[in-house]
Amino acid sequence: MRYFEQPKKRKKKIKQIVVHCSASDFGDKDKIDEWHKNRGFKSCGYHFVILNGNVSSNSYDKAKDGVVEYGRNWWENGAHVRGHNKNTIGICLIGLPKKIHSLPFGVFTIKQLRSLFCLLYEAIRFFELSPNDIVGHNEIVNYDNDPYNDKLCPGFNVEFIRKVFKYMPGIYFRRHCG
Ligand SMILES: [Zn+2]
Repeated sequence: MRYFEQPKKRKKKIKQIVVHCSASDFGDKDKIDEWHKNRGFKSCGYHFVILNGNVSSNSYDKAKDGVVEYGRNWWENGAHVRGHNKNTIGICLIGLPKKIHSLPFGVFTIKQLRSLFCLLYEAIRFFELSPNDIVGHNEIVNYDNDPYNDKLCPGFNVEFIRKVFKYMPGIYFRRHCG
């Protein structure tokens, strides 16, 4: 275990993992912390943020591409989907999709996707979930009065990810995820 090795502070049941995008072409956990505080949240509302190398609007650091940063502790409620923050984990990919891509590669980097799959693989085992428990923000009920909850996020059809977990043998993940 790599991402979820912290002891369980409470017996909290995680039922779903929700995949998001930042709707920005740059950023990191600290930037999101700032953006979310401006929106009135206590801190970054996601549990994990997966970087694309563009930490600020005018810098690129190859070493940051695919890096997973921690937001809130997984046992704390996130602030990422209104009405669904109690038993979910929120993962945010830095990226700015303009439309729903049939594959996520249009906006997210290969390294981001690799990190996402490794994180999800571990989450599925740690929380005893099935691939069907991985959902996109755009698949969860929308609230018309929430301007931040649009149907675009995360910019691709997360069914793609569920299929990978249904059909890809576990050995692939064990080999490629440290
Ligand atoms: Zn979202």
